[in-house]
Amino acid sequence: MTDPLPTGATIGILGGGQLGRMLCVAAARLGLRCHVFEPGANPPAGDVAHALTTAAYDNTDALRAFAQSVDVVTYEFENIPTSALDIIEEIAPIHPNRRALATSQDRLTEKTFLQGLGLTVAPFADVSDAASLRDAIASVGTPAILKTRRFGYDGKGQARLKTPQDADAALADMAGAPAVLEGFVTFGKEISIIAARNPQGDISCYDPGENVHRDGILDTTTVPATIAPKLRTDAVLLAAQILNALEYVGVMGVELFVTPQGLVVNEIAPRVHNSGHWTQNGCTVDQFEQHIRAVAGWPLGDGTRHANVTMENLIGDDMDRVPELARDPKAALHLYGKADVKPGRKMGHVNRITG
Ligand code: AMP
Repeated sequence: MTDPLPTGATIGILGGGQLGRMLCVAAARLGLRCHVFEPGANPPAGDVAHALTTAAYDNTDALRAFAQSVDVVTYEFENIPTSALDIIEEIAPIHPNRRALATSQDRLTEKTFLQGLGLTVAPFADVSDAASLRDAIASVGTPAILKTRRFGYDGKGQARLKTPQDADAALADMAGAPAVLEGFVTFGKEISIIAARNPQGDISCYDPGENVHRDGILDTTTVPATIAPKLRTDAVLLAAQILNALEYVGVMGVELFVTPQGLVVNEIAPRVHNSGHWTQNGCTVDQFEQHIRAVAGWPLGDGTRHANVTMENLIGDDMDRVPELARDPKAALHLYGKADVKPGRKMGHVNRITG
């Protein structure tokens, strides 16, 4: 076990989006520095990072220099090329670890792993072509959802099959990418639990939040979720089981469906999560600081919720509401500093204390 990073140490973050930005701010509060690696120009995290490298993930020299300049590396999105991690890993430790990343990068690996832990997931089958899709429909049934195994986010890379007749169109939507067919889960609501584990094996979970999506994108998260106390405990226990099994270090988001039979795990995200933004105004230590604490080997903070909160994402034209929101004394605004407003683009969020 390594010692906790001292103040003044530098955390490398792969990815410079809003999650990276909020990680940088949290690290700065603890006297830690962040060096962000991001291929795109003017990333949201660039405004608040101690250092920024603008380079592609196949730029070996830039990756080496980045890794040499930091004490530990983490990431804010899961689709980092393996080749980049191979280079970094020779120089600096990466948290969460490679296994956590590999497991969550591929829906088939992820579902197989979760099922192996005895957790409930939607019925699923591997799909690579028309014949395997026919077999998958025979075993999983319809309605079902065909999802690309990799690179899906915010409902992208998905096609719904109401009946087996929808097979050809759904397969065409995958554009040749390997996929997984998932049985349609009839759920009452969607919740998520944000959990953290440090290298010492301590675990801290936030209260589960209730999520509502609009056009496939998270719209609101409300805490407390209106679920039975037993399900709250189930969510905490299953999250802890996942973190321990992966020897995970950092914050993870676990998305769950609530069904009459109990919780079904939809997916895991090996990073801070949009549905955990409420913690910024509902907890003493938010998910961003908790992640920084974990990867820096610090004691975890107290994740106890001290308020009822609703988080609302500000997407695209929602930015027109900012002047009004800025006048609302009950609204805690978090804007990402993105210059271009585009439909479907996450521009910020607002947390409201509701009790
Ligand atoms: P995902 O990208 O897998 O998180 O899916 C995006 C959204 O699609 C989820 O938040 C659910 O609302 C819905 N969804 C995904 N998978 C299923 C499923 N197997 N059954 C029912 N709804 C699903």
